[in-house]
Amino acid sequence: MLEPRVLDTSALIYWPVESLEGGYVVRKQREEVRRVAPDRAMSLEAARLNWTEPTLDSHERAREIASETGDLDGLSETDLEIFALLIQTGGHLFSDDYRLQNLCVATGMSWSTVDSEGISGIWNWQIRCSACGDVVSGQGRTRRAGEGLGECEKCGSEMKISRKR
Ligand SMILES: [Zn+2]
Repeated sequence: MLEPRVLDTSALIYWPVESLEGGYVVRKQREEVRRVAPDRAMSLEAARLNWTEPTLDSHERAREIASETGDLDGLSETDLEIFALLIQTGGHLFSDDYRLQNLCVATGMSWSTVDSEGISGIWNWQIRCSACGDVVSGQGRTRRAGEGLGECEKCGSEMKISRKR
């Protein structure tokens, strides 16, 4: 049996939808994706993901461990839930977040970067201004969805991830 794959939000955004099948995610990630990649949020509804809420016990455990390693302050609530879900499922984490990776190392959980999944779909997405349509380059590497994408250098509007046409 394959171990459960726990996916952080950058995997939800950058992986091809079919690669997400069966992956474990927390409900809060839906909001994150909606915020930075509204187009993508729609296609995720079709993906067969396990939208989960970690149990109180695993949430508590995650908080304890993160506080011991000193990562708690830098973690978002969503990240903490992702780690709790990882503990709960005993799965394998896909994340580019160094704090989550650090927690995996500290607890002996297995993990990989999001990039390492051999994603071809990554270049089908671009970071684009929601107002003037200006596109920024350098989107080849994944980034943390929770951080937002910043503002357009030309007009100062919000940048979004959109499908390349
Ligand atoms: Zn703009």
